[in-house]
Amino acid sequence: MVTVREVIDKARSEGRTILTEIESKRLVKQAGISVSDTRLATSREEAISISKELGFPVVLKIASPEIVHKSDAGGVKLGLKTSTQVGKAYDDILRAIRQKHPQAAIQEVSVQKMARPGVEVIIGMSKDDQFGPVLMFGLGGILVEILKDVSFRIVPLTKRDAAEMIREIKGYPLLQGYRGQEPVDVSNLEELLLKVSDFVEQHPEVKELDLNPIFAYSDGAIAVDARVVLEGPSQ
Ligand code: ADP
Ligand code: MG
Repeated sequence: MVTVREVIDKARSEGRTILTEIESKRLVKQAGISVSDTRLATSREEAISISKELGFPVVLKIASPEIVHKSDAGGVKLGLKTSTQVGKAYDDILRAIRQKHPQAAIQEVSVQKMARPGVEVIIGMSKDDQFGPVLMFGLGGILVEILKDVSFRIVPLTKRDAAEMIREIKGYPLLQGYRGQEPVDVSNLEELLLKVSDFVEQHPEVKELDLNPIFAYSDGAIAVDARVVLEGPSQ
């Protein structure tokens, strides 16, 4: 397995501070956080063969450190059920990226399994000038984007911080099961927050971290997107 050090050194040697989704997932996986297994395809054929290995349905995404908001760029195709759909999605993604980001040098595609539906939550870390690393928790989608329904705590988190962060968001009832939706394993989310806190403490070279979204279930949770930004080389 590639170590955290190797991933960071490689990015730095290429003069990058932004890690790709695949690199970011490698880092957080080593912190014990479950992520959807994501592989790089360098050709259409490879995208199809990886899809067959992983098992349908799959998700294809643009894999380029230069493209941070993948869906906005037309770079995410969900729920692909056949080789034909994967081939078409591969072509569509590269066409969209060539149009919207013609300057992007790296234009590869990643393949991962489609995760089963769950409650989308997000965990983020950013550094505050006064307080240092701060973790954020919220529900995914419009609840975060429009309503800003999120909670914050300073790293390192205590168990109590983790428990409170989850319970103090307004959308908390959605995690307890809503209109037939399965209730989420909240203690698992608490552990996840503590793992992210540990990871951040152990890796001061990480400047920003986003797990957005994490799919939360009654029996665990899995991050389907991850983004890590490193401190600049002077740090
Ligand atoms: P972006 O760079 O736009 O944030 P994401 O990787 O988060 O791209 O993908 C956009 C959305 O697609 C996610 O918010 C999630 O709802 C869905 N998605 C992404 N990956 C998966 C997956 N493996 N399984 C199911 N849904 C996914
Ligand atoms: Mg995302």
